[in-house]
Amino acid sequence: MSRHGQIITTENADIMEQYAVIIVDDEPYILQSMQRVFRAEPYPMLVANTGAEALQLLAETPTVAVIISDQLMPDMNGTDFLTRSRAVAPDAFRMLLTGESNIEATIAAMNKGGATYYISKPWEEEELLQIVRHGIMQYHLLLENRRHSEIINEQNIQLLESLNRLTEQNTELERLASTDVLTGLTNRRRMFEYLEKEVSRIRRYGGTMSIIMFDIDHFKLVNDAWGHSVGDTVLQEVARESKSVLRKADIAARCGGEEFVILLPETELAGAVKIANRLRQQVADMVVLQEHAAPISVTISIGVAMIGPNAASVDLLIRADKAMYLAKKNGRNRVETADMMLFQETE
Ligand code: GH3
Ligand code: MG
Ligand code: MG
Repeated sequence: MSRHGQIITTENADIMEQYAVIIVDDEPYILQSMQRVFRAEPYPMLVANTGAEALQLLAETPTVAVIISDQLMPDMNGTDFLTRSRAVAPDAFRMLLTGESNIEATIAAMNKGGATYYISKPWEEEELLQIVRHGIMQYHLLLENRRHSEIINEQNIQLLESLNRLTEQNTELERLASTDVLTGLTNRRRMFEYLEKEVSRIRRYGGTMSIIMFDIDHFKLVNDAWGHSVGDTVLQEVARESKSVLRKADIAARCGGEEFVILLPETELAGAVKIANRLRQQVADMVVLQEHAAPISVTISIGVAMIGPNAASVDLLIRADKAMYLAKKNGRNRVETADMMLFQETE
């Protein structure tokens, strides 16, 4: 009777031979006849006479995919054995072998022991073989599934990690791309982007913003007298002073050689003029010390302009620039506003 051997495909045989099946029954002839039924199968059939022996075998054999248990046994019954086997082989396919003809009692015993199937004695050989093969394949697929999910989880973690790294790198790149190298202030490009966005937002939804534009007075003299690198130090010190007057939403930018801009969102002209004067005073008070040379002091000329409900529509930067030019013209180390300019223009 080798007919059952032909049902298994070669592929499945390859899979099944990796696993083992265990049967526990207190009657030796049942075990013998089981071994006979399964002799042509590609997987080993392990046998045990008692639940205790079967638990021992299970602990020693991690490849067990299917557990078949008799129900009535002297040391522990099938339900108890199957229940205890779950601690050792949680995912194995469990089957109850029973002489019981009461199907309800059998199903109750199955449920309690976590069995998926029951076989009544006497069994149909072909049916038994089919169920056990099915149990092995189910167990195999469960393990495969778990292995695949673990791989996918691991890949997801790696993807997430590289995404985080990329985000960090992008943030750093963005920071570098929008920072002026010498002073650490916002650079011209980023300042223009921000200004454009804010101005169109204010034009659409209302609001206020002021701009402070300043330029170091007679900076050429500093370079000429002390050299370019001392000039750079002075630029850095002036930048430091501008940072010190910033509030949370303000942005200080270096827009050209020795020209700077501070954007002050939600700030009226009067408030901006106050800040501009404080900055002007701080810069004027600032002393850049040199080794073996005289300390350096500089001043700045500042133009202030505002955009808002009552402000002129002339470009904010142009108005600030004109105001700054006026500050230069009026003697430097001064603050002038664009409103005054416009007032003078319309007169
Ligand atoms: P004013 O009061 O009219 O602004 O006079 P000024 O000398 O400051 O004006 P000008 O525009 O003639 O000179 C600006 C100088 O700034 C010329 C240039 O050498 C210097 N400068 C521009 N960028 C840098 C820089 O990155 N580092 C240094 N050290 N100097 C710079
Ligand atoms: Mg200058
Ligand atoms: Mg200049």
